[in-house]
Amino acid sequence: MIKEYKTDDLTIIWQPEKCTHAGICVRTLPKVFNLQARPWCQPGNATTEELKATIEACPSGALTYKLNK
Ligand code: SF4
Repeated sequence: MIKEYKTDDLTIIWQPEKCTHAGICVRTLPKVFNLQARPWCQPGNATTEELKATIEACPSGALTYKLNK
């Protein structure tokens, strides 16, 4: 299963089967990555730079992004 979450600038790609639950995303950007929220990923609550930095820190590759054209 792959889920995508879009902002104006980027598309976040979430592959839950790869997640090792290291928790870096939820600790770094709790306004965006919140397991209590539905959807759990609310990318409108951070800047593009914050999103990119946090996604790049994901150790498992479960979170990636692509830039929108
Ligand atoms: S940072 Fe990556 S591996 Fe860690 S909980 Fe978030 S998605 Fe999963």
